[in-house]
Amino acid sequence: LTTAEQNVLDKIETEDVDFLRLQFTDILGTVKNVSVPARQAEKAFTEGIYFDGSSIEGFVRIQESDMRLKPDPETFAILPWRNDENSAAARMICDVYDTTTGEPFEGDPRYVLKRALDRAKEMGYTVNAAPEPEFFLFEEDEDGYATTTTNDAGGYFDLAPKDLASDVRRDIIYGLESMGFEVEASHHEVAEGQHEINFEYDDALTTADNVATFRTVVRAIAAQHDYHATFMPKPIPKINGSGMHTHLSLFTEGGENAFHDGDDEFDLSETAHSFLAGILEHAPAITAVSNPTVNSYKRLVPGYEAPVYVAWSDRNRSALIRKPAARTSAASRVEARFPDPSCNPYLAFAALIHAGLDGIENDLDCPDPVRENIYEFDEQKREEYGIETLPSNLGGAVDALEADDVIYDALGDHVAPKFVEAKNQEFEEYLIDVSQWELDRYLETF
Ligand code: GLU
Ligand code: MG
Ligand code: MG
Repeated sequence: LTTAEQNVLDKIETEDVDFLRLQFTDILGTVKNVSVPARQAEKAFTEGIYFDGSSIEGFVRIQESDMRLKPDPETFAILPWRNDENSAAARMICDVYDTTTGEPFEGDPRYVLKRALDRAKEMGYTVNAAPEPEFFLFEEDEDGYATTTTNDAGGYFDLAPKDLASDVRRDIIYGLESMGFEVEASHHEVAEGQHEINFEYDDALTTADNVATFRTVVRAIAAQHDYHATFMPKPIPKINGSGMHTHLSLFTEGGENAFHDGDDEFDLSETAHSFLAGILEHAPAITAVSNPTVNSYKRLVPGYEAPVYVAWSDRNRSALIRKPAARTSAASRVEARFPDPSCNPYLAFAALIHAGLDGIENDLDCPDPVRENIYEFDEQKREEYGIETLPSNLGGAVDALEADDVIYDALGDHVAPKFVEAKNQEFEEYLIDVSQWELDRYLETF
């Protein structure tokens, strides 16, 4: 056993851990877990835990279904909502292996991200990422089902008592901190019932693990307070939706921020500009991955602080990418504002990183920033500035993904076709459905 693995065994002993949840995600980003008695931990490290991959979305067919989970000891954490004096449950995030070849399984989203990070490494970089996940807290009905009734009437940065959810939010933050998160800030977002909790940046793999954990923790602790937390991008029409802005930067092996250049007007290096240009270039295809639900496209409309147009800015929030003000050179970074928290963070980060690296490799020219409110531009003005529009629905985004080799290859031969198939099916189901809006609009008119 490695030292990290031995440490896990020790903690299982001292913290009275009874059960271990071995976690991974399917291609849609849903956290799956296999629970094993804690005394199996050693075996999990040495031999791995076998499971049936055929029941996991996007994994494998029945006839080739045996998969192996190998827990990453660095991700060991006690689950705060399952912890009392004499027993506790803990989790570890796992890599998935193919039992026939013994190689990492290509359909494992964590592996897809690792491949992106390997590419960065070959180019001499490590990747840092920090997300800003937003979510709504809704009341549950008498039977415990989610409603869309918000639990408060607060607004941006409001304080209690209007912000009734601050109790829940505080418990969520305690829970996250007990699992090793460094929470930077939390606040009430613009919409009623909407919240945001930011945590400290980390390497992109840890951050993707953190996003998956974050969603689980938020939902579990909200449920303890009889609230339903949702990361659905646009649960209520005509008010702000929930985004997951993603801050990215590249560091050199020597620990320097490769995105910083104090001589540049925007404090961004040539490398950062090309990275940014790569994301702009591949944005339509990336949206299929970073905004992967039918509902995602109800958020990406003008007027609600979510981006619609492919442009960047050092000022305004209507742009797809923003260059946030940075206090130190280490903090120079770009903020992709289009991802939403319904995405699979491993796949979304992989797509963004490959797009950016592609921009660097091809030395792409970065367009000028746009400082005006792009929502107010008409078509002619957008044409004049060369500003393209994001896909307006999931179907369009999936088409863009299929047409873009860089992003398709970012997902790899296993995940890409499975992802496209699942998303096309989701979109088709939506298209043939008859919505409440249609009934309200047409039933009595015609
Ligand atoms: N809720 C906004 C969105 O949908 C973002 C608001 C902000 O934090 O700037 O992306
Ligand atoms: Mg926000
Ligand atoms: Mg932001």
